[in-house]
Amino acid sequence: MADTADCASYLEINASHLRHNLSIFRTMTSGRLGVVLKANAYGHGLVEVLKVVHSEVDIIFVISPVDAQKIRSEEVRLGLSRKRVLVIGAVSLDEAIELSLNDVEVTIGDLGWLSNLTKAKSPLKGKKIVSHVHIDTGLSREGFLPERIPSQLSFLKTFNDVFEIRGAFSHFANTEDVTEQAYALEQLASFERGISQLNQLLAPEHNLERHFAASAASLVLPPARYDILRVGISLYGLWPSAETKLSAKIVLGEPPKLKPVLTWKVGSQIIKQVPAGTFVGYGCTHRCEQDSTIAVFPVGYFDGYPRLLSSRSHVLIRGRRCPVIGRVMMNHIVVDVSGLGLVDLATPLLAVLMGSDGKESVSAEQLGTWASTINYEIVARLGEHLERRVVE
Ligand SMILES: *Cc1c(COP(=O)(O)O)cnc(C)c1O
Repeated sequence: MADTADCASYLEINASHLRHNLSIFRTMTSGRLGVVLKANAYGHGLVEVLKVVHSEVDIIFVISPVDAQKIRSEEVRLGLSRKRVLVIGAVSLDEAIELSLNDVEVTIGDLGWLSNLTKAKSPLKGKKIVSHVHIDTGLSREGFLPERIPSQLSFLKTFNDVFEIRGAFSHFANTEDVTEQAYALEQLASFERGISQLNQLLAPEHNLERHFAASAASLVLPPARYDILRVGISLYGLWPSAETKLSAKIVLGEPPKLKPVLTWKVGSQIIKQVPAGTFVGYGCTHRCEQDSTIAVFPVGYFDGYPRLLSSRSHVLIRGRRCPVIGRVMMNHIVVDVSGLGLVDLATPLLAVLMGSDGKESVSAEQLGTWASTINYEIVARLGEHLERRVVE
């Protein structure tokens, strides 16, 4: 048996691929390049990704205030200057004040703070809450409908000693699932209405920073690029969808070559030979048809390897596909390695669960398809406990 410390699964984060993907988006804007590091940097590791991209981007977007404060403390630890950070998720007024004291920008996306605003000024110690207004143009998530802006946001004028309105943004509902952008164009028109309402409300002094495009719109809908891009999934080298890749071919001629950043590896815990007829795993859903060599790997759905991959996926060992047999368990999978020929039962095998090995690869998209979901969910659910190793 291998030492468990040797065989625990881990993620390799390819720094040069991160920089390569960033360079693609740099060419798509004359404005600012922003990256989305929410959900533990889409499972890639907030701190690990931050270190690589910090010097290359203009602004960082996160959902939670905790992540924003983590970025600030990492900057101190690493001796880096403060990068612009915007929290796009909902925060309480107390959190907004705390964030403002650390020069983090926040989003006004609902009326949650309204009743408490008179209490905000003194704890701000002379600072303002630097804010971006979220306009709901058709996703029906956060944000204000354009026609409600004059009435619902009039408090921004009343409390202009509390707020500095720096920008306004929106988020697309349907850029990824289609190759025509009819709904997105309606959303763009709605955004323009919202911006003009906001400008009238805040007149005369305002020059709002506008942002709208996530990865898909950055790639395939140039009018949506505005002043800042908010690149999430494609920073990590993944396409938002097959349709987006197809659209990119049409819009850009040649789709850019995004490079997947993450490789998930695991060493085997046990290798053994079993006779024909042996059952494998819970529920006895797999039975070996012939004498087989099987390998047990210490990775399971706790780590983010979906149970829906049971008897469906394969892993790569020595550049070859080896099937996962039986059910994915909480902390284990079993792989049929008979196809590798003779293996030394005492020497652990290294498997690639996601990523490339020689000519073969298992993409996040492929795992998503097998598990009836999308690449976003596959990477976002990678366990926070997994070791992340940055490689060049
Ligand atoms: C997640 C998110 C993004 C990034 O989306 P991708 O499709 O991953 O690029 C951008 N903007 C908002 C508001 C988001 O929630």
